[in-house]
Amino acid sequence: MSPDVIVIGAGAIGTSIAYQLAKAGVRVTVVDRGQVGGGATGASAGMIQINPDRRTPTALTALEAESARLFPALTAELRERTGMDVGYRPLPLLHLALHAEEEPSLRAHRAWQADHGVAVAWLDRTAALDLEPSLNPDVRGALHYPNDYQLMPLAFAQALARTAVDLGATVREGTGVDRLLTEGDRVVGVAIGDERLHAGEVVIANGAWASSWSQTFHVPIPIRPVRGQMVALRTIGTTLRHAVSSFEGYMLTKADGTTYVGTTLEEAGYDARPTAAGVAGLLALAPRLVPRLADATLTAAWAGLRPGTADGRPLIGRIPGWQGSVIAAGHFREGILLAPITGELVVDLLAGRQPRLPVDDVDPGRFLVRAA
Ligand SMILES: Cc1cc2nc3c(=O)[nH]c(=O)nc-3n(C[C@H](O)[C@H](O)[C@H](O)COP(=O)(O)OP(=O)(O)OC[C@H]3O[C@@H](n4cnc5c(N)ncnc54)[C@H](O)[C@@H]3O)c2cc1C
Repeated sequence: MSPDVIVIGAGAIGTSIAYQLAKAGVRVTVVDRGQVGGGATGASAGMIQINPDRRTPTALTALEAESARLFPALTAELRERTGMDVGYRPLPLLHLALHAEEEPSLRAHRAWQADHGVAVAWLDRTAALDLEPSLNPDVRGALHYPNDYQLMPLAFAQALARTAVDLGATVREGTGVDRLLTEGDRVVGVAIGDERLHAGEVVIANGAWASSWSQTFHVPIPIRPVRGQMVALRTIGTTLRHAVSSFEGYMLTKADGTTYVGTTLEEAGYDARPTAAGVAGLLALAPRLVPRLADATLTAAWAGLRPGTADGRPLIGRIPGWQGSVIAAGHFREGILLAPITGELVVDLLAGRQPRLPVDDVDPGRFLVRAA
């Protein structure tokens, strides 16, 4: 039997959408040419962190805040249905000022954020070192974000997929969509090799690869891969109690005891390799933030392709001029944070309901104007 909805891509976004649809009683099939979470999702740090600045549209911050609010109940439900602990834990963040000239901008950022409802405090050197004694003793001070969280992103996507299946969804790995099937201005399904799979709606959730449907829609879909590299370090001794960041990068200890150090922001096309230069930069950064990491063992290096957009905001909504398709892609550096709310918004859009939060700031129409 044909599904009601096909979701292309089983990253955090596609699996969250599949889970929400299955929960709403919709027959959904999610297809991924690789494995669940095998794209940017599995490569990510898994920080659940809201860090707006003057340029962040208020409506996007509202989506982030609502998404962050959904995690406790969502991860509890995933655990109940699958037995999987996706590692959702508090992880307060310290953003360090390592040089005198960084202090004024961090203090100004704090003042702006505090005025806009973000829980953030400025700590002097002693207070920062009291909280995280292994920090570089030359630290001048730090912004402290007490309310951030983290999870294990691959486990999160896998748990979403398993729960979706438990609720009646079908998940097909190793199943690449070669093209969209259309009839006039309507998307009616997908072609997978010789197979034709039809559905009432097709959700485009294939992250950095979403631009591959530009020709079908006769509009350039402005989503591009932005490579992020990461290394994992293992140390003997206590793990970090905070995520530690600076203007150069960040680190955090995961539930399995390894410390991830990230990341690069590179325009390298669809090349998802970690490189000698990228890894060297991260290995040099680690002891600048936490000196004892100079003695750590390098256990892994990897890279992922973030789905980047021109304004840093995702595209969530209908493709102008087309029926039978919704896009939910381009979540750039926030796809884990935004996964829960994206799933809920897509269910609203497919049901023809007013989305539960304003989506104008993420409307694909801001980019996608179809040629006549
Ligand atoms: C180093 C790094 C650190 C990050 N840290 C964080 C963080 O701390 N917090 C946060 O919120 N975000 C973070 N991000 C960003 C986050 O990982 C992404 O925004 C998010 O994973 C995007 O999810 P997605 O489902 O859209 O894409 P992906 O996870 O890339 O999934 C897309 C899927 O589509 C599949 N696909 C592609 N083409 C096809 C096709 N034709 N047919 C079938 N399947 C197809 C791919 O195989 C892939 O599995 C980080 C990213 C990186 C790289």
